[in-house]
Amino acid sequence: MSENHPDGFLRSRRIPIAYRDPRLRTGDHLPVHAPDWAAGQLREQGSRCMDCGVPTCTAGCPIGNLIPDWNDLVHRGHWRDALERLHATNNFPEFTAYTCPAPCEPACVLATNDEAVTIKSIERAIVDMGWRHGWITAQPPSRRSGNRIAVVGSGPAGLACAQQSNRAGHRVTVFERDDAIGGLMAYGIPDFKFAKTQLARRVDQLEREGIAFRRGCEIGRDIPLASLRADFDAVCLAIGAQAPRPLDVPGRQLAGVHDAMDYLCRENRRQAGRPVDGPIEAEGRDVIVLGGGDTGADCVATAHRQHARSVTQIAIDAPRPLDRPADNPWPWWPRTQQPSYALDEGGRAEYNLDCGAFIDSDGDGHVDAVRFERVRWQHDDRGRRRGKTVVDDVRLPAGLVLIATGFTGPRLDRLAEQGLTTDSGGRLRADDRMMTSLPGVFAAGDACRGASLVVWAIGEGRDCARCIDVYLSGNSTLPASLRSGGRPLGG
Ligand SMILES: Cc1cc2nc3c(=O)[nH]c(=O)nc-3n(C[C@H](O)[C@H](O)[C@H](O)COP(=O)(O)OP(=O)(O)OC[C@H]3O[C@@H](n4cnc5c(N)ncnc54)[C@H](O)[C@@H]3O)c2cc1C
Ligand code: SF4
Repeated sequence: MSENHPDGFLRSRRIPIAYRDPRLRTGDHLPVHAPDWAAGQLREQGSRCMDCGVPTCTAGCPIGNLIPDWNDLVHRGHWRDALERLHATNNFPEFTAYTCPAPCEPACVLATNDEAVTIKSIERAIVDMGWRHGWITAQPPSRRSGNRIAVVGSGPAGLACAQQSNRAGHRVTVFERDDAIGGLMAYGIPDFKFAKTQLARRVDQLEREGIAFRRGCEIGRDIPLASLRADFDAVCLAIGAQAPRPLDVPGRQLAGVHDAMDYLCRENRRQAGRPVDGPIEAEGRDVIVLGGGDTGADCVATAHRQHARSVTQIAIDAPRPLDRPADNPWPWWPRTQQPSYALDEGGRAEYNLDCGAFIDSDGDGHVDAVRFERVRWQHDDRGRRRGKTVVDDVRLPAGLVLIATGFTGPRLDRLAEQGLTTDSGGRLRADDRMMTSLPGVFAAGDACRGASLVVWAIGEGRDCARCIDVYLSGNSTLPASLRSGGRPLGG
């Protein structure tokens, strides 16, 4: 059990795994994080964990990672045991260790008046160590149940559902519309944030465990959902939430104005050596990125790597405060200004700009500028924008505009005709058992939550596998994640 290191946080400062120098990393598409870390450094960081009686970090992690356990195991040098504890709650720790915004860290007790434990760096070190030493191997089930499950969509939710279901003994086939497995991990999140070699070795592990993959197969178009329901005992829809929120402003149809996902997907395909249907190039252009979130940041960083002349990221809202507001206390996720790896590399951010029109000054059909209103927003008591005062007109030059203003819900395309109901936000409606309006058809991930995070998708995929197992077998030994509030989902 836990070795006593009660004063570790007094002896050692927080030192996370470093990022590479921004001036060097914009010259390539290699990971932004330093490739190497020192085991001694991470062991010391593990000693900063106070092994609190109530681990608020675990509650802050959407999948309830057993953080104090593996902090302690790392501190004592028991890396392989730490990996086992990590895998107990997270099928793909490298997905989260490289991309998660780490809500666990502001929830760490140390963060009340000191620097939080470097939880995400320790998670990464454990899983890096696991791959490096060959500890992560296929774990096929010892028996088969005779049930067959179809998983539609191969993002983190679909893959987690597939691996858990397979481990419960069910035969799993994953159907993926794209030509690559991974969902947004493959074609959304850029290589420099998450190297695709990491995805390939997980897919290889899943195939060795007996999971079948059908790439380039869209359910609803290539195979009707009804056929899938007839051929399989249960279906999981993990189809993401990739329908872009429409931005209806004059000039939207001009050449040079693109949805962020079109841009990112093409660059990801190029980096993977796959055919690209007309690349979108930032080289030598003034790039305007509309949207202040993760997708916008990834566009900014990709434009740097394509040698844009200038890059400006536009947020519609005011910048967040540097310190927590009074109504946003620890251990909640801080509504404060977060550092941006992309803006650390260059470019600038503009706030309080409401996009008015895309302008083609010379009449050649290509965007030349974007017109904005600089505004002050009025909010209602729930913080929603309810009115604005225009303080200025702003015009910025633009040779390429990337729209990263969010997603509305799943792209249901032809699936919509097949009896699935959605909520008012366009997300798939699912009950307490994660079952949709169609019996035996379950849903997980962004498709029901709306655009969210990798860690939530993994948690939903795990829970969905448990719900399906209960539906097929009457009970389940698969663990439920913390998102169920400790209540085992599915019964
Ligand atoms: C640019 C970008 C950057 C992001 N960065 C981060 C980050 O840094 N950290 C983080 O935590 N989260 C990030 N996210 C969010 C994260 O990627 C998603 O929350 C997560 O991938 C959702 O997983 P999912 O499995 O639910 O869906 P997805 O990953 O969207 O996967 C859904 C899959 O279903 C397939 N599909 C859809 N319909 C069908 C059909 N009818 N038949 C067959 N297949 C179908 C799709 O092709 C897709 O592959 C980012 C998102 C974007 C867009
Ligand atoms: S998955 Fe995210 S929230 Fe959970 S421990 Fe890892 S970094 Fe923290």
